[in-house]
Amino acid sequence: MASAPIPKAELHLHIEGTLEPELAFRLAGRNGVELRYASAEELRDAYSFCDLQSFLDLYYELMAVLRTEDDFADLARAYLERAAAQGVRHAEIFFDPQAHTSRGVPIGTVIGGLARALDDSEERYGVSTALIMCFLRDESAASALETLEAATPYLDRIIGVGLDSAEVGNPPEKFREVYDRAAALGLRRVAHAGEEGPPQYVTQALDLLGVERVDHGLRSLEDPELVARLVRDRIPLTVCPLSNVRLRAVDRLEDHPLPRMLAAGLLVTVNSDDPAYFGGYADDNFTAVRDALGLDDETLRDLAANSFRAAFLDDARRRSYLEQVAAHEFG
Ligand SMILES: [Zn+2]
Repeated sequence: MASAPIPKAELHLHIEGTLEPELAFRLAGRNGVELRYASAEELRDAYSFCDLQSFLDLYYELMAVLRTEDDFADLARAYLERAAAQGVRHAEIFFDPQAHTSRGVPIGTVIGGLARALDDSEERYGVSTALIMCFLRDESAASALETLEAATPYLDRIIGVGLDSAEVGNPPEKFREVYDRAAALGLRRVAHAGEEGPPQYVTQALDLLGVERVDHGLRSLEDPELVARLVRDRIPLTVCPLSNVRLRAVDRLEDHPLPRMLAAGLLVTVNSDDPAYFGGYADDNFTAVRDALGLDDETLRDLAANSFRAAFLDDARRRSYLEQVAAHEFG
């Protein structure tokens, strides 16, 4: 008999990447947006990629269906409902304001809609939440600064900033000023680094952007000194196994470096990234690595505990979630 999924936090999740084809069609219909696909089925077939860029192309195309506060609220509610069923108790959710403001959707519409869904998430789904605003690294530093400025009226809704989209050629140093500003505003800092980009990008994210958590960080393994530093400073890495396979950062899940990362003593967490596109939500990723890498129950428990250790939670909350992980019984 299947047991309930182990309690976990999701720390690397792009809300725009939870847009399932069926919801995309529903929102397109509601907003009179024409899609290039005849049906949700046909769109689902298009969800196959060869690398980060081919994924990003479709990802940005489909954002056209997100227009109103209701759309963003519906998107977030659909995710939270799925996440709850996957054992997620706490979610720190990324969103990409520039992908919307560039289409004429005001940042207040984006944050207002997401906040509406997040406000009753604990009551409705039993999932505590936080929002992390990401800058698109293939856009200019000036655009990131403008975005942070535009978000100022909503800072009570945002706990931190992140950095995502096409990594290679867009090193962390480009965003030094905006991260300094975010720190001055009291925001937490994370960044994608070392997914397709080299380990130097991880080092830069730590040294120049002051990040407290690294998203992906797989390529850190190429630099033993960096690994030693990440271990010593307990810097969490939010790893996304199914995403790594779909975007070809790793050829096969069986070859995923997760066991090596754990053996090195890194504080690794397992997350879903863009689950509508990459074939699975949080617990699907747990199950996939268990099966492909032969992880035992205690390793899975450790990964779940890491997700709460790495989360931006107060001590009482963290303790209570860790107790739930410790008490979990595997089926
Ligand atoms: Zn990501």
